[in-house]
Amino acid sequence: MIVGERKPLNEIKEKVKDYKKLLILGCGTCVAVCMAGGEKEVELLASQLRMSNELDKKEVEIKEATIQRQCDKEYIEPIVELAKKYDAVLSLACGAGVQLVADMLEPMPVIPGLNTRFIGIAEEEGKWSERCRACGNCVIGEYGGICPITRCPKSILNGPCGGSQNGKCETSKDRDCAWALIYNRLAKQGKLENLYKVAPPKDFRTQDFPARQVNENYVKATKTEEKEATAKK
Ligand code: SF4
Ligand code: SF4
Repeated sequence: MIVGERKPLNEIKEKVKDYKKLLILGCGTCVAVCMAGGEKEVELLASQLRMSNELDKKEVEIKEATIQRQCDKEYIEPIVELAKKYDAVLSLACGAGVQLVADMLEPMPVIPGLNTRFIGIAEEEGKWSERCRACGNCVIGEYGGICPITRCPKSILNGPCGGSQNGKCETSKDRDCAWALIYNRLAKQGKLENLYKVAPPKDFRTQDFPARQVNENYVKATKTEEKEATAKK
């Protein structure tokens, strides 16, 4: 999932200070799971802003709404009319969600309320960590399902470096050395021979951005359906 964290309240207050009618829009998927931008967080932020406005003697109408996903047009469409009644939208989605909402509500100002951090996993309740940098050419099959690009701070493909000690990374005693993890996993799998192969330099051209992906079969099928429907009319 995409992990994000809420921006500090003072930063948000500064960004929304000129608006009299504000819609706070939550996202019910990744950022809800990481407790940054779901329904509860929208409610909390709305209360904080209302209290702050009251103390500052500012009259601002604040509306709360949460949709399933802000990165998908079909979930945004139903709230377009509602959003138009407001001066601005404060979006608690990841950066992708904020941008799609801004595209669909143009020219309305859409302000990000979160900082998008990384693609990661929930380690335990309240703790998330990065696992993938979307490099476009996944190599973890060779490394026991552990990503050296993401979990080694140097993204070394033929590790470990000289700083690995007692299973820990030289960059932090709290961080496992990715290559110690890889070694231990491959040992358990009986695949240590994978480490005798020298990995070629990684082709980071696959990480070209802005990246785009098209499912040709789906696009063709949709076009054919549209043609058939037009022919029947
Ligand atoms: S190798 Fe690339 S795609 Fe695979 S987990 Fe690592 S960063 Fe993500
Ligand atoms: S100690 Fe391990 S994880 Fe840390 S930089 Fe070196 S190889 Fe990467």
